[in-house]
Amino acid sequence: MKKRIFNFSAGPAVLPEEVLLEAQKEFYSYKEAGMSVMEMSHRGKVFDSIIKEAEKDLRTLLNIGDDYAVLFLQGGATLQFSMVPLNLMPPVNKADYIVTGSWAKKAAKEAKRVGAVNIAGTTESENFSRLPKQNELKLDSEASYVHYTSNNTIFGTQYKTEPEVGNVPLVCDASSDILHKMLDINKYGLIYAGAQKNLGPSGLTLVIMKKELLERSGDSLHTYLNYKIHAENDSMYNTPPTFAVYVVGLVLKWLQNNGGLNGMYEKNLKKAGILYDAIDNSNDFYKGTVTNKDDRSIMNICFTLPNEDLTKKFLSESAEFGLSGLKGHRSVGGIRASIYNAFPIEGVEALIKFMKEFKEKN
Ligand SMILES: *Cc1c(COP(=O)(O)O)cnc(C)c1O
Repeated sequence: MKKRIFNFSAGPAVLPEEVLLEAQKEFYSYKEAGMSVMEMSHRGKVFDSIIKEAEKDLRTLLNIGDDYAVLFLQGGATLQFSMVPLNLMPPVNKADYIVTGSWAKKAAKEAKRVGAVNIAGTTESENFSRLPKQNELKLDSEASYVHYTSNNTIFGTQYKTEPEVGNVPLVCDASSDILHKMLDINKYGLIYAGAQKNLGPSGLTLVIMKKELLERSGDSLHTYLNYKIHAENDSMYNTPPTFAVYVVGLVLKWLQNNGGLNGMYEKNLKKAGILYDAIDNSNDFYKGTVTNKDDRSIMNICFTLPNEDLTKKFLSESAEFGLSGLKGHRSVGGIRASIYNAFPIEGVEALIKFMKEFKEKN
C-alpha cells in the first residue's frame, strides 16, 4: 500500500487513521451481519443500533440534554442555509445575520428569499480579515434568530466565544469546527455542520436544535425541509446516509478514546500555536492574513508569502515534500493549512520544518 501523505485539505478533509483502518476491517462484512454497512437496510436492527449509538455518543461528548433534538440529514451545510430560515423565520419573518465570510454570505442570501434579513455585523469591507466586535453588532431584539458562522473556513477567523444575543435564539454554522472543543449547547437554538471537515465523510449534515424551536416548523413546508418531520422520525423519514453515519460513529468513539473534547482542544491549541509561532517568528517572510490575532482560527491557518512566484514555488515544493492541499482559497490567496481534529501534530511539525527550510533557501 502507498504511504499516506499529510493532507491539509479544507474539506473533505483528513480522517483519523484509526477510523480508516477500523472501517477497512469492517468494510466487507460488518461484525456478525455478513454484509457491509453500505448494503444493509436502514430499518434493520444492525443499522438501528449504529445510528442510535452515534447519537448517544454525540450526546455524551457534547453533554446534549433531552430538550435538544439531534438530526442526521443530507444536503450539506448548504441545504441548512435554506432550512434554517424556512423553519425558523416565521411568523416574525425577520432574522439577524452576522456576515463574516463567503459561507455566511451564502446563508444570508437564502434567508432573504424567506423574509427580511438584517446584516447585524460584517467585515466584508476588510475582506473578512477579522470578526466584528460585540459592540459593532446591531442586533434586533425581535429577530426570529441570529445566525453566525463559528469558524470561517476560507478566511481563517474563528469565534472564541459565542456572540451575545440576549434572548434571541442563536443559530450557528459550525461546519468547520464542530467538536473541536467543548461547547455549552444551552447557549444555542440550533447548530448545524456538514460532516466532511471535522466529523466524517461528506454526505451527512448534523443538526442539533432546541426541541422548543420545532414548533415553528409549519405544515406547509415540503416534507424533507421540515425539521419537525425529521425529529419525529428519528432522522429516518427517508434513507439516511448510512455509511457516513457509521463513519461518524467511529470518529465519535475515537474522540472518546483520545481525551474527549477537552483533550482534543488542548491538542488543537498546541498544533495551531506552534504553526502561528512559526509564521510570527519568520521576520515577515510569512504573514498571517487575519488582522486581529484574537480572531485567528485554530482550524484553518491562512498566511501569505512575499510574492506570487514564491507562493507557487512553495506549493509545488511542499507537495513534493508530502504536504498536500495547502493552496489558499482564491479569495484570500497564499497558503491555507487546515488542521482539523484528525490532523496529526507530526504533519504540523513537518510543515514548520519545510517552511523554515524554504525561507532559508529563498
Ligand atoms: C464547507 C462549508 C460549508 C459548505 O458545506 P457543504 O456541506 O458543502 O454544503 C458551509 N459553511 C462552512 C463554514 C463551511 O466550511
